[in-house]
Amino acid sequence: MKSRITAVLALVVAAGALPYGLGSYTIHVVDIALIYALLAIGMGLAMGISGQINLAQVAFFGVGAYCVAILTTNNGYGFWAAAVLAVLATVVTGLFVGIPALRMQSHYLGIVTLGLALGFINWITNADISGGADGISGVPVPTLPGIDLSSEYLYYYLEAVVFGLGLVFGLFVVHTSLGRRLRAMRDDALAAGATGAEIPLLRMTAFVLASLYGGLAGILYAGLIRYVAPETFSLGNMFILLAMVIIGGRRSLVGCVVGAIGLTLVREWLSDFSTYAQLGYGAVVVLMVVFAPTGLAGVPARLRDLYRRRFGRTSDDRAELRPFTPYTPGPEPSQDGPLLQVAEVSKDFRGLRALDEVSLTVDAGEIRGIVGPNGSGKTTLFNVVSGFYRASAGTVRFAGADTTRARPYALSLAGVARTFQNLRLFGQLTVRENILVALDRTRTYTIWQYALWQPGVIRRERRLRGAAQSVLERYGLVDFAEAAPASLPYGIQRRIEIARAMATRPRLLLLDEPAAGLNGEEVQQLVRIVRSIRDSGTTVVLIEHNMGLVMSLCEKITVLSSGKVIAEGTPAEVVAAPEVIEAYLGDSDLSELGMSAPPSAERPSPAKEATS
Ligand code: ADP
Ligand code: MG
Repeated sequence: MKSRITAVLALVVAAGALPYGLGSYTIHVVDIALIYALLAIGMGLAMGISGQINLAQVAFFGVGAYCVAILTTNNGYGFWAAAVLAVLATVVTGLFVGIPALRMQSHYLGIVTLGLALGFINWITNADISGGADGISGVPVPTLPGIDLSSEYLYYYLEAVVFGLGLVFGLFVVHTSLGRRLRAMRDDALAAGATGAEIPLLRMTAFVLASLYGGLAGILYAGLIRYVAPETFSLGNMFILLAMVIIGGRRSLVGCVVGAIGLTLVREWLSDFSTYAQLGYGAVVVLMVVFAPTGLAGVPARLRDLYRRRFGRTSDDRAELRPFTPYTPGPEPSQDGPLLQVAEVSKDFRGLRALDEVSLTVDAGEIRGIVGPNGSGKTTLFNVVSGFYRASAGTVRFAGADTTRARPYALSLAGVARTFQNLRLFGQLTVRENILVALDRTRTYTIWQYALWQPGVIRRERRLRGAAQSVLERYGLVDFAEAAPASLPYGIQRRIEIARAMATRPRLLLLDEPAAGLNGEEVQQLVRIVRSIRDSGTTVVLIEHNMGLVMSLCEKITVLSSGKVIAEGTPAEVVAAPEVIEAYLGDSDLSELGMSAPPSAERPSPAKEATS
């Protein structure tokens, strides 16, 4: 910590002293580099942090610059008044560009944002108000009392302050709740939705952040050059910007800054060979994407990994999964009606009926098992209940409210949590951050605090971190808190997923094959964990293939086959039901059902007889 503060102080002093050593041309290049650095931070926030392809950054840049130019030369505004309006205009543009992001993802979004950028370039090249291809000259020098900003040396300080604040704000966003959610969305939007993140709004927020930085860069550019023309906001420059972010490392804002400053300097240096230079950047970007997808910023971590693998055996090896600490039992659940009611729900996938008029009712305090052959619709049922799929017919009620059409985040906030059959942890987040994302129960609109009341954000952060520590301790995960989930054994990842689901403090926990891939000892621990979760007052519904586990855990079991409920009852009743025997006889799961039936079943299980 101390060394970090020293490093930052040293950087600040160096930045302050920098102009003294530089010639007038060099300081001009540095001024340009800082403007690109701001643009790159915005790109990094949208692309690297939030995973939203944004090729409209030059348009944000242009909106900021042109607003200032038009408002000052055409409408008689002062520079700063024009700047404020320019920020507003860019943010509105960001909202507008973010609209397609509400519905689209990845490459489609790339095409749409590119189209919007092209539209903007077209417009400034042809419109009268923007001065056409000639652009607008005569933008006034921004005025500050006592400081002559027509000097590029003094302008540097203005830029450095804006850039510094911009970087600090960006890092603040990345490392607190908003940024964590953005990163979680980037890693796995479905799982982020299941932990309460409002995905469409967050996507839009990513574009607004990008536009904010684009706008600031545009304003500084207009004040520095005092002339705007279409070629500055060309697609060529868009791709340079992309190259900066990819080479520097899009997942790290500092990496983006390094890429932007570095490439601006290289570009200046190679300005006599600009055609070849363009090709060169292209080649470097391709090489980066192939060999170092995390960019320059990712190189230290890769080297560290390499070193570790080479010389092995670090402190990580002593890390262990500690035992789970049971929850303190909660009060008996009040029996005022069922917690979950699924009524005649059907789900069709183009001709395939995955669920066929499924009805089931789960009371508060139950541990319900759902079994059935592969493809019988169990996961689909969870997807409908947790809002990922919309039922084709029928209704779902949770805690008395109709939630048939509710979105995943709304269900999460209402108290439904789930795990996934094929683990869906946030891969680039640490285990601790995975838990922190789930602990955050706020709605997206609370991000106004980032703009107006940062202490609120910090206070929330502190609270979340305290809570995360106790979740990690309870689930025995403290040793892995800073690890990347993918680096951990499967059994631990399964436990992290349960911990993450429970971090949302749900009333209903849906577990999709939680024992898949676990060894015997891990299954025993799972049984203890699930019992304790139920005793703490959370109702559990569990899909499981391992009949032994279902038999020993669940008071009541629902059997699905080909999308229909074919039996429901206590384990003993279900195993004896002729429909169940038949369904399993027609399926290779038969042996599994028979062989793992509980040895202590009171009456001889017909299924067992059938197989033996
Ligand atoms: P289970 O979890 O019981 O093994 P699923 O609910 O995953 O079964 O699947 C039930 C059926 O629905 C399967 O035939 C599966 O192929 C189909 N299905 C599930 N999800 C989709 C989807 N998104 N698109 C098309 N078919 C699907
Ligand atoms: Mg399944």
